[in-house]
Amino acid sequence: MAETRHTKVLIIGSGPAGYTAGVYASRAMLEPILVQGIEPGGQLTTTTEVENWPGDSEVQGPDLMIRMQDHAKAMGCEIIGDIITDLDVSSRPFTAKGDSGTTYTADAVILATGARAKWLGLPSEEKFKGFGVSACATCDGFFYRGQEIVVIGGGNTAVEEALFLTNFASKVTLIHRRDELRSEKILEDRLLKNPKIEPLWFHTLQEVVGTENPLGVTGVRVKHVKTGEITEIPCKGVFIAIGHAPASELVKDSLETHMGGYVKVTPGTTETSVPGVFAAGDLTDHVYRQAVTSAGMGCMAALDTERFLAAQDDGETDTTPAS
Ligand code: FAD
Ligand code: NAP
Repeated sequence: MAETRHTKVLIIGSGPAGYTAGVYASRAMLEPILVQGIEPGGQLTTTTEVENWPGDSEVQGPDLMIRMQDHAKAMGCEIIGDIITDLDVSSRPFTAKGDSGTTYTADAVILATGARAKWLGLPSEEKFKGFGVSACATCDGFFYRGQEIVVIGGGNTAVEEALFLTNFASKVTLIHRRDELRSEKILEDRLLKNPKIEPLWFHTLQEVVGTENPLGVTGVRVKHVKTGEITEIPCKGVFIAIGHAPASELVKDSLETHMGGYVKVTPGTTETSVPGVFAAGDLTDHVYRQAVTSAGMGCMAALDTERFLAAQDDGETDTTPAS
């Protein structure tokens, strides 16, 4: 039966920002409810080694996220496997609808819905998605043992995916539209030293080509950005790693956003354009986009929420959103 749950603080998202907010809000005795969404643990569950989480010189992304979940739970955060499909922030208490049928009402909301992989938008990319085209090497790399693979992109994700895929592939071609990577230097060094990886500079993906029956990839057509020359590269797998876009669909019409959909916050805080709604992590951050910065913002969001709710209790400030 559909039920309604009320909470002082509803945390939406279970990446580093959401779980850290869960730890801090629980310790502030706010008895938060955290809704995990479709990807419990967030983006780090799609990677392997994480080498820049302070205190762990190396930790597996999925393990780190289980530890964060356990930590939030141990502090008293209620963690629910549900997806928020609709969020109404026009009046308080705020109302969120869960895919499960549950309605959540909340005195304050912390948005920590993070970001999702971007796609190029090519019809052939769409056609072969799940049949040779992927945006997650850790999820799908295993299927390409002994095969040739291409990776598109030149950031940290592309370089890490290319390195990881050498565990399976016979050859990995990294296709980048410039001749300079934007990844960390340490990753670039590893990439350039890896005998299985061949960078292809100044090229963009034009088309994924393959067979119809069974549906499968046999290669890619790439274009030189300066000469326009088209080349075909044989491969069985195509990994798109061209960045991430903020998951702001729930609030795109109700909160101020900028820079292509990132939720706008007052600098130095996690306050959004609606009092009582706070945002943290990759959802708000088009610059740093790291686990540790997301966790830091999750902490800030819980502290901002605590102050907001205390002010409401004291009746000090009327921050009722304009209707
Ligand atoms: P995310 O981790 O994006 O989590 C978002 C959460 O929101 C998910 O749990 C999702 O289920 C939930 N959600 C979304 N929509 C809804 C909804 N409607 N209802 C309920 N819940 C919802 N950073 C590093 O510092 N070091 C690394 O080594 C590193 N490696 C990376 C490797 C890869 C392959 C990728 C993709 C990223 C990597 N990053 C790394 C970046 C890092 O993962 C992100 O900066 C970080 O995860 C962002 O945390 P977040 O909490 O803001 O959001
Ligand atoms: P990113 O840093 O935004 O890099 C995206 C890459 O894809 C860029 O090289 C970009 O090219 C290329 N690109 C974008 N659109 C393209 C298009 N239409 N066609 C061809 N190429 C295109 O994204 P990311 O690598 O996913 O990283 C996202 C964030 O997560 C970053 O902050 C990153 O530091 C973080 N992250 C960190 C780690 C780590 O710390 N180990 C690992 C993974 C991710 P240009 O360079 O020409 O713009």
